[in-house]
Amino acid sequence: MSEQETRANPIAATVDFERDGLQHGFLRLPYSRDDSAWGAVMIPVTVAKNGKGPTVLLTGANHGDEYEGPVALMDLAASIDAASLTGRVIILPAMNFPAFRAATRTSPIDQGNLNRSFPGKPDGTVTQKIADYFQRTLLPLADVVLDIHSGGKTLEFVPFCCAHRLPDPAQEQACVAAMQAFNAPYSMMLLEIDSVGMYDTAAEAMGKVFISTELGGGGSTSARTVGVAKRGVRNLLVHAGVMQGELARKSSVMLDMPDGDCFSFSEQDGLIEPCVDLGEAVGKGDLIARIWPADRTGVKPVEVRARMSGLAAGRHFPGLVKTGDCISVLAVAA
Ligand code: ZN
Repeated sequence: MSEQETRANPIAATVDFERDGLQHGFLRLPYSRDDSAWGAVMIPVTVAKNGKGPTVLLTGANHGDEYEGPVALMDLAASIDAASLTGRVIILPAMNFPAFRAATRTSPIDQGNLNRSFPGKPDGTVTQKIADYFQRTLLPLADVVLDIHSGGKTLEFVPFCCAHRLPDPAQEQACVAAMQAFNAPYSMMLLEIDSVGMYDTAAEAMGKVFISTELGGGGSTSARTVGVAKRGVRNLLVHAGVMQGELARKSSVMLDMPDGDCFSFSEQDGLIEPCVDLGEAVGKGDLIARIWPADRTGVKPVEVRARMSGLAAGRHFPGLVKTGDCISVLAVAA
């Protein structure tokens, strides 16, 4: 073991993960600063446990400006009946709590992107300490892991639950089954732009059944997407065998992302004009967006065309775009 692996994480949980019943508390992470010398970051956590059985670990606000997860998980924590469970549910509606309170993707304390900080460091930044606690304390407790994402302030998606292609076919199949049980309007085999440092990758490397979502975006929620999240969480608990009941089933469109042609990135700054809306079919070579110069009139826009045929699954959200921004995500029906 390296020195890193033997060093204790400074987070102390005010709940006992092994105790039966319902507990609401915090992960208390010491954070000494100007306005609170011996202060702490207090990450809300709920544990509901009843005897032996699988453990489901549920998280929201891994990115602080994505809200379907926090809403659905606050609702679950306030209503879950521990006595009716078989096993354990661990609920963290705001995983990167400092980012959630600041309504930003990354932490205002250290600019840490929690979903690029794994495996984390027990003696690192606040964000790295949170990642290390998940890596070495919470993930090892879990059998099934759901991390609820949305587009945040800069992206918007059709509401989908997603799994990844994995080297172990049996593990991939279990993840796909969990994704189908979540039963979002779309179910996506997601291709990541860069998977290094992600919570997803950490959970999958431990052999866990891991699924994630993208349920909307723009830095807010809708009744529809919150409903998808609530139904999906409950369905997953039933699928995992922790909660009694029937799966609530609606039709779900299976999508795949075969390669990097799914993504379009802007090569200039400007004013973006979307030419297709989310959920619409796009042919290879079709116009996806036009980018107008933001600082003068009389100049033709730059045209962005689809590099493959598919369905518009994601888009840049704000009206202004910068060089390097992801403009569009296409997926194909599987
Ligand atoms: Zn996210």
